[in-house]
Amino acid sequence: MSQVIRSPKVFDVCIIGSGAGGGTAAKVLTEGGLNVVMLEAGPPLNPAKDFKEHVWPYQLTHRGVGVGGHSDEFMAPNGFWDIEGEPYTTAPGSDFHWFRSRIVGGRTNHWGRIALRFAPVDFLSQSTDGMGDDWPITYADVSPYYDKVESFIGVFGSKENVPSAPDGVFLPPPVPRCTETIVKKACDQLHITCIPSRLAILTKPVNGRPPCHYCGQCGRGCVSASNFSSSQVMIPPAQATGRFTLITNAMAREIVVGKDGRAQAVSYIDKATRTEMRVHARAFVVAASACESARLLLNSRSSLFPNGLANSSGAVGRYLTDSVGSDAYGYFPQLEKIPRHNHDGTGGMHMYTPWWKYDRKNDFLRGYHIEFGGGLDMPGVGEFHGVCEEYEGYGTSLKQACRSKYGNYIGFSGRGEMIPNADTYCEIDPNVVDKWGIPVLRFHFKWSDNEIKMAKDMQETFRSIVEAAGGTFFSDAKPGGDLPYGISEGGRIIHEVGTARMGGNPATSVLNVHSQAHDVRNLFLCDGASFVTNPDKNPTLSIMALSWRSSEHLLDQAKKGQI
Ligand SMILES: Cc1cc2nc3c(=O)[nH]c(=O)nc-3n(C[C@H](O)[C@H](O)[C@H](O)COP(=O)(O)OP(=O)(O)OC[C@H]3O[C@@H](n4cnc5c(N)ncnc54)[C@H](O)[C@@H]3O)c2cc1C
Ligand code: SF4
Repeated sequence: MSQVIRSPKVFDVCIIGSGAGGGTAAKVLTEGGLNVVMLEAGPPLNPAKDFKEHVWPYQLTHRGVGVGGHSDEFMAPNGFWDIEGEPYTTAPGSDFHWFRSRIVGGRTNHWGRIALRFAPVDFLSQSTDGMGDDWPITYADVSPYYDKVESFIGVFGSKENVPSAPDGVFLPPPVPRCTETIVKKACDQLHITCIPSRLAILTKPVNGRPPCHYCGQCGRGCVSASNFSSSQVMIPPAQATGRFTLITNAMAREIVVGKDGRAQAVSYIDKATRTEMRVHARAFVVAASACESARLLLNSRSSLFPNGLANSSGAVGRYLTDSVGSDAYGYFPQLEKIPRHNHDGTGGMHMYTPWWKYDRKNDFLRGYHIEFGGGLDMPGVGEFHGVCEEYEGYGTSLKQACRSKYGNYIGFSGRGEMIPNADTYCEIDPNVVDKWGIPVLRFHFKWSDNEIKMAKDMQETFRSIVEAAGGTFFSDAKPGGDLPYGISEGGRIIHEVGTARMGGNPATSVLNVHSQAHDVRNLFLCDGASFVTNPDKNPTLSIMALSWRSSEHLLDQAKKGQI
């Protein structure tokens, strides 16, 4: 690419990425009066055409299983474990998987909508148990922004006063399914907390968005925008201001700095023409997702920043974490006798177990929560949740056998905190570029004993719940092997954060308390890159709350002429 095409216009702010973090920044900054341009690597999204929420299997070729039977054509589009022509690599001995989305709204088109606040202790981990680091901000700093995000996007839940799972601004929760009632009773017996879940799904109208009609298909995307996606909830208000320019199919390659050390422009590849373009702005919000944002900074080398932009600390790419995951399931004979009825509800769990052992000494530090689900929901494409694999035969007897078992299983998934370690990070692979010529990331990943002990505890808890409920316990987890106690492969839980963490000390952190780079004052990182810890709570609500907070700070600085 020999020629760079420069646009003469200078925007107030350029945002890179339109997911949870970028979408929130776009809404807050444009409504605050700034002129914003957003670069998004993927295409635009048209929910009416792209979301297959109400499409039946017979309406798709191969009933939606995809050629070769390896994909699910019902799922919201452009979410991939592997992107053709855009590889990443893993270091020898490391196993890491990276789910990326390339479309307006990013992975908020695909996420499970589990929207949990971090607890006060999650910001003070080092002070509490001596491991890792504290955040330079507290729960009190973020709490007003959780309120703003929850009020705007709509999250259902219930006030429970559980110290490890702070209450929020909630819409009423949906009633539990019968499967969830069975688990709740067993949990009560075992003194394990089990409460209504907290999902970004509307149970009442919010800002013109209708409530959920309980089709149970959130993973396909919601045509009525009754669940949260940045594409349907954050981007439209930004567009309505008339101060928002969205450039799609624009893959940011490098942030360009001036002689004064301030960021000036972003060079990006226009995928349609394969031309290199450049857009100028007074401030930059990088929200390409934690690892893509680290990649962009590390690829933005200059004489002023030879190790990558805003990386004088060397912390960009370090402190990477995912959530600890481990799964098991149970077969519940009492469900065989329940009259067949529709369990659909919202496209997620109506009950869950927050971390309940916060007040005792455990074998491991930090905690985990439990997500569970099963029952008579709409079967996954072509597989009937594996039930059909159990039986031989054909015709009526096979159908009856499958029908008698289908819906009687409940699956359990633990989601726990990983503590950052020196063996887990991402860096630029010096030998590999993607199809746009941009150097790719190489991942290093290792679980520590703490996480393995946590996975063991998850398995023991799942077994005790299943057995207390009168079920039969099943698990593939083994104590040894590459993945002891069924601990997930790195990246598989899709909660990767921490690659440009905030901190009070510029020698050990990349960002200040406002997610503003210590080294480059007009550069903000508004995705999970800023996280100091990765508590058991799924990260996206916190990404949005922190992005809203940083964006208000950016607005304030812009008004004072400091940006
Ligand atoms: C199946 C699934 C289930 C999940 N469930 C949950 C859940 O229940 N709860 C929860 O909290 N989290 C969940 N997550 C995680 C959640 O989706 C992410 O935490 C969240 O979307 C991250 O937001 P983000 O803005 O950092 O990045 P993303 O949402 O990934 O958005 C990043 C955007 O940046 C764009 N981009 C990337 N690189 C560039 C570039 N160089 N130039 C321009 N644009 C670029 C991408 O195309 C993308 O649109 C789930 C994720 C998946 C995939
Ligand atoms: S379950 Fe509700 S929120 Fe989810 S896709 Fe269906 S209507 Fe939309």
